[in-house]
Amino acid sequence: MNYKRILVFGAHPDDEQTMSGTIAKLADLGVEVYVAIFTNGCEGYPKPEWKDTIVQMRRREGEDSDRVLGVKERYRFERPDMGLINDKQTLQETMTLIRRIRPDAAFTHGPHDRNRDHIAACEITLEALWQGGQPVCAELGEPWNTPHQFYYKGIADRPPDLVEDITGYAHKFLESRATQVSQHTLFGKDAAQFAAEIQKMKQEHSSAEDRFWFTQRMPLRGFPDIHG
Ligand SMILES: [Zn+2]
Repeated sequence: MNYKRILVFGAHPDDEQTMSGTIAKLADLGVEVYVAIFTNGCEGYPKPEWKDTIVQMRRREGEDSDRVLGVKERYRFERPDMGLINDKQTLQETMTLIRRIRPDAAFTHGPHDRNRDHIAACEITLEALWQGGQPVCAELGEPWNTPHQFYYKGIADRPPDLVEDITGYAHKFLESRATQVSQHTLFGKDAAQFAAEIQKMKQEHSSAEDRFWFTQRMPLRGFPDIHG
């Protein structure tokens, strides 16, 4: 992944963590990693008394995760959780972001998913990555064709097109997960369990990999040396 800038889309404030190992590895190599999250995660509260504070909690947790992984900038669309739709405003906001960041590669959700926001995020990003490169909506910035476009999850029907070795970074997944305190109930682990597992994983330094699939919505252009 010989990139200068990558843009990782997620429906909810932690979806990007599926590829935490890759994000942390690339950030260490000097790649600028941008994260764009569509919804505010307002429905992700496991306790009724957190309903009014969950958005604020998840915003902070997202920032904590970014520090753990070395993310350069997080963009929040603040759409309602369980209510993301591919409307004109969201599409254009996504196009604007793509044209501003001009990523070498974008990563998004795949279409095989039970979560409505994940499916909508997949549709919005695929369309914005295409329309963002077209000579339309000139006011939103100069068109940018993102050379490489990947799914990082939500693909059930084919083997991965790219397998990234994240040996030495596998614990970053758990480290980023651990920052999402409001989601610990969902993950089925408390802070102590996270700490113990992270410690064990660091010691073992076991080999690990992240898997990616081409979106195949654009003609593939091979794997150019972007730094070259
Ligand atoms: Zn999600």
